[in-house]
Amino acid sequence: MIAVSDIRGFKFINEMYGKESADDILINIADHLREFMPDDCIYGRLGGDRFGIMVKKDKMNNSFIDNIFMLHGNYDTISDSHIIQHVGIYSVDNRKIPVSVMYDRAVLAIGRVKDDYENRVGVYDEEMRKNQIWAQEITIEADIAIKNNEFIPFLQAQFDSNGHMTGAEVLIRWNRRGEGILSPDRFIQIFERNSLIFRIDRYMWEKTCQILKSWESTNLSDIYLSVNISGKDFYFADLYEEFTGLVDKYKLNPAKLRLEITETVVLEDIDEKISIINRLRNAGFIIEMDDFGSGYSSLNVLKDLPLDVLKIDMLFLSKTKDIHKKKIIINSIISLAKNLNLTIICEGVEDKDQVQYLKKIGCDFFQGYYFAKPISLDNFNEFAIKNLSS
Ligand code: C2E
Ligand code: CA
Ligand code: CA
Repeated sequence: MIAVSDIRGFKFINEMYGKESADDILINIADHLREFMPDDCIYGRLGGDRFGIMVKKDKMNNSFIDNIFMLHGNYDTISDSHIIQHVGIYSVDNRKIPVSVMYDRAVLAIGRVKDDYENRVGVYDEEMRKNQIWAQEITIEADIAIKNNEFIPFLQAQFDSNGHMTGAEVLIRWNRRGEGILSPDRFIQIFERNSLIFRIDRYMWEKTCQILKSWESTNLSDIYLSVNISGKDFYFADLYEEFTGLVDKYKLNPAKLRLEITETVVLEDIDEKISIINRLRNAGFIIEMDDFGSGYSSLNVLKDLPLDVLKIDMLFLSKTKDIHKKKIIINSIISLAKNLNLTIICEGVEDKDQVQYLKKIGCDFFQGYYFAKPISLDNFNEFAIKNLSS
């Protein structure tokens, strides 16, 4: 079996306690391995804060792992409890695959416990293997799928408090050959690992412009469409050039193409992104903050980003059992948004009681299964014409 370890927050330890203390920790780990590893095993430091061991399966059990990767050092400044090693394990079931692949699998297994404060050992298993194969398969296919128009926009309508349809969000579906329609949680995260996400998003943005164009001089001409932007997209292109290029090409009013960004954009390079968002706003685009409140930096987002619309996902509150508490939270978010002159869209709205309450406390717009599900363009056109004429 192969086990690989990784110290939680080692970068932070380096910055907080200094390089020397951090080095002490690494030396301690090495000494510990030397002392406790059985003779017929291989072990070593693989770089940075990463150590690896290879042992026979009969030696490897929970207490062995605990002992090998537990530190009992004496540090002046750092408490032992701050030094936790995450461990990924791959049990070699096929000796023919390259050792580098075995190592990768052990490293991948660390990912299972990276953000977990209770478990520190992750095991590479059948489920991970399946996910890995799935990720490889669809990554190879994506380009051809784009060419074959397998990615298609579904539209979910949005309504004002009088029940009039005002616009829609464009949500991607993958009509994968031989498999039917796949929902985005099967593939978006995987594509976010590389530049595929940008190629697919750009494709969706262009499709969206084509839909808006096709509505010109029909009675859907007032409807706007919102597109999703992945936080990663900022790294693959100048989004200002991208979106202004698109509305120029299709001669569209930029306010018709609304841009949904997520809280992840504030994690890195915030100044650069604020400047891009400001330029987009100045060019007439409407910027929406998606899933507001579901992340961990919501107030920073409000403080730092130039925004027009907050989208509040009702589902993020659905786990809260306490109805009273739920109401206080939603009330406060709405009044906060109002004070900041932001428009509010409540999404994930599923029943009448919710709608009535949200209207009472000042929510402006609604999106959710209660009103309409995401549907294909043909179905949407039919639905929209009925809604607008009623
Ligand atoms: P999102 O942007 O928060 O989209 C809303 C999701 O909530 C959609 O799921 C929608 O079908 C679902 N939803 C809407 N109303 C309700 C409701 O009343 N109840 C419940 N239970 N669900 C509701 P969907 O279409 O599966 O999309 C999932 C996520 O995938 C999206 O979340 C978005 O983050 C991502 N996504 C979708 N299309 C794209 C795209 O073109 N590009 C990128 N980068 N991400 C996309
Ligand atoms: Ca969205
Ligand atoms: Ca959302």
